Amino acid sequence: MALLSIIVPCYNEEENVRFFYEELMKNRDFFTEKDLRTEVLYIDDGSKDGTVEEVKKLKQEAENVRLISFSRNFGKEAAIYAGLQKSRGDYVVMMDADLQDPPSLLPEMFSYLEKGYDSVATRRVTRKGEPPIRSFFARVFYRLMNRISQTDMVDGARDYRLMTRQVVDSILSMGEYNRFTKGIFGWVGFNTKWVEYENVERVHGETKWSFWKLFLYSIEGITAFSTAPLAFASVVGVLMCLIAFGAILFIIIKTLIWGDPVGGWPSMVCIIFLVGECSCSAWESWDSIFPRPTWK
Ligand code: UDP
Ligand code: MG
Repeated sequence: MALLSIIVPCYNEEENVRFFYEELMKNRDFFTEKDLRTEVLYIDDGSKDGTVEEVKKLKQEAENVRLISFSRNFGKEAAIYAGLQKSRGDYVVMMDADLQDPPSLLPEMFSYLEKGYDSVATRRVTRKGEPPIRSFFARVFYRLMNRISQTDMVDGARDYRLMTRQVVDSILSMGEYNRFTKGIFGWVGFNTKWVEYENVERVHGETKWSFWKLFLYSIEGITAFSTAPLAFASVVGVLMCLIAFGAILFIIIKTLIWGDPVGGWPSMVCIIFLVGECSCSAWESWDSIFPRPTWK
């Protein structure tokens, strides 16, 4: 009998914990038909409400529920990573607790694994119910990202993914510290089937992503999956260097023709240009070849 692990990151989702489980288990017949055992891994990401108590209560009633609880809020990425590490299933799926990733799609998604795909990803084709400004920036981000990064990132892609153990293991083998999941999945490759659906609004509670949090997350994605910022720094460095050399040449010629009205100024400025710009650009080029590790 194969095991299906369902990873559910939860941050202040007390109203959704049970509701999610009930909705998921509406697929019970499907699980039996396919001879699938299930384990539902709730990852409590340092919730401040009754999420942990809710999961514990559920655990007493249902034997396929497991709980992993973080000491503080580490973010959804960390929750997903922990879930993947602790999952024991032959197949693994990640789903939001707010039912924005409809469990009713599971049978269709599973059918693609049976057809030979390694991974089934989902993508929402509408952004109905989302603030327009957020949709706008999301679109700009994906357009920019796909232009500057070699990794393919799909606009509207959700973290709702069903994978085989092989895919999970290759994701786990990536020791990234800042984990930008959307990029990592594209990077590991594999035969992926995309399933599309209309956006569903969350059932209870509010989104945990503020605009600022999303903005920082997008920066993480850009710096982790593109060398464009580094290449940009190098180009600017070399450009500055050329400008500095031009300026030095200009000052030398000017001094030779018109003399030195302020004693020592030309030599002083030349030294500043030389030391400042050239060493700066050298550093930038060095950095782009041997990037320094990021720290927090
Ligand atoms: N989440 C989490 N840690 C966080 C933020 C969110 O584990 O720091 C979980 C949250 O409980 C939910 C999922 O990630 O199950 C998606 O979050 P949310 O619905 O707020 O994001 P949105 O759907 O608005 O993108
Ligand atoms: Mg949501």
